[in-house]
Amino acid sequence: MSLNDKSVVVTGGASGIGLEVCKRLLESDAKGVAIIDILENVDGIGQLRSTYPEKNILFIKADVADKTAIDEAYEEITKSFEYLDIVVNVAGIFNDLDVSRTIGVNIGGIINSTFAAMNYMSKEKGGRGGIIANMSSVVGLDPLFLMPVYTSTKQAIVGFTRSLANEIYFEKAGIKFIILCPGATITQLFTNFTEKIIFPDMGDVAYRVLDRLHKQSPADVSKCILSAIEQCENGSIWIIENKQLHPIKMTRYWTSIEEKV
Ligand code: NAD
Ligand code: MG
Repeated sequence: MSLNDKSVVVTGGASGIGLEVCKRLLESDAKGVAIIDILENVDGIGQLRSTYPEKNILFIKADVADKTAIDEAYEEITKSFEYLDIVVNVAGIFNDLDVSRTIGVNIGGIINSTFAAMNYMSKEKGGRGGIIANMSSVVGLDPLFLMPVYTSTKQAIVGFTRSLANEIYFEKAGIKFIILCPGATITQLFTNFTEKIIFPDMGDVAYRVLDRLHKQSPADVSKCILSAIEQCENGSIWIIENKQLHPIKMTRYWTSIEEKV
């Protein structure tokens, strides 16, 4: 899929990886970008607008965990965008001490934004199909013992997104789904890490583990994300580590009956 002339929604697009995704989308000549975020990054978004004055750049302050707010956000976005072509669901948090908020934002947020987007993108509903990319993590594939709550939400995103990548939905809606699994990336997400882990006595181990991880910048990751979107294979899962994109296949242990008929 070419990004040229596409209208895109990016949740969590006000900072970190999301903001870099927005920059690169505009650089790749997307037609417009709508950012849904709770953070009002006036400077960052102002800079995008001054660099790309001809583009439609919207900012909507909304909490992805709030279904009503997200439904309203999409309603507003689709008033400015004729069609919605691409959604990149990036918004997420790390704080294993706040279990319900972590679940609400990381899982609830992805679900709210995905369903709201499908409503406008689905060919059955007058849309023209497109692609929805959901942000998981390497820990969405293999657990990291230090962060069991965060890990569980990132694994849930994999299950949710793989369910929707079924051909049955694609034939109806024309929407492809992909899963993004970056490794450690230097952003605000893990600041004060040891204050947000659930077992405080793991602090020393945590620092040793974090030290050993390969680190990459949000700009490196965003480049890989755009390349995964361009390749546009329904159900594809991408590890992004060492500034590189690695497609992976999940082993299947069980197949549902309806897929065989
Ligand atoms: P970040 O904290 O720099 O950016 C997250 C963005 O999401 C921020 O702009 C924040 O305001 C926004 N956000 C948070 N809660 C929100 C809410 N309830 N509603 C709307 N917006 C909200 O972090 P980041 O590292 O850029 O993380 C982006 C995504 O990438 C997250 O889902 C994270 O889990 C995932 N990820 C990060 C890493 C990493 O090492 N940084 C690795 C793998 C996956
Ligand atoms: Mg992660």
